[in-house]
Amino acid sequence: MKKDRRDFINTCFRFAAGASLVGVTGVLAHKTVSGNTLWQIDTTKCTQCGRCATSCVVTPSAVKCIHVYDMCGYCDLCGGYLRPNVKNITTGAENQLCPTGAIKRKYIEDPFFEYEIIEDLCIGCGKCVKGCGAFGNGSLQLQVSHDLCVNCNQCAIARDCPSDAFSRVPADEPYKFSGFKTNKKI
Ligand code: SF4
Ligand code: SF4
Ligand code: SF4
Repeated sequence: MKKDRRDFINTCFRFAAGASLVGVTGVLAHKTVSGNTLWQIDTTKCTQCGRCATSCVVTPSAVKCIHVYDMCGYCDLCGGYLRPNVKNITTGAENQLCPTGAIKRKYIEDPFFEYEIIEDLCIGCGKCVKGCGAFGNGSLQLQVSHDLCVNCNQCAIARDCPSDAFSRVPADEPYKFSGFKTNKKI
């Protein structure tokens, strides 16, 4: 019997995003943090202007796309993965929105596809985030990855951000992504 989306998520991927972030949070326990606060992005303010990819003092940027699997529709026609108006839905490089090929598309079962961010390839440009927000559920979101960020006193991206989306957050609540796993929808 074909699963509906709710069954699918509950049985397969419910903890995927949470697990990855728990791993990152574990790193924080061993990291010295300035005043016990860290820089983070408010996803409700970010307009995906592109400066997260270019203004960070770390290369490539410490800002990465995270995938909040709980919010994802596992769509075949994914606005975060595919360029607008593609003729064929395939994994060909010419069809992919991501400039670095950092999103892996995997067939799960009819009609679901999973999209995984390969963090090492992501430069934090936000193109997929914009595409997902425009045509999908907004499950792709930009966040400062705290295993990469050096926690500058004055974050260079915060200084350049046109949306005032950066702020310092408590080190024990280091992420501000929107989604079910936060238990506090923003
Ligand atoms: S600089 Fe600000 S608005 Fe631009 S992508 Fe980064 S957080 Fe979003
Ligand atoms: S489109 Fe940009 S933000 Fe999204 S995965 Fe690719 S490099 Fe990262
Ligand atoms: S605090 Fe520094 S390393 Fe971290 S995101 Fe900002 S500029 Fe990049």
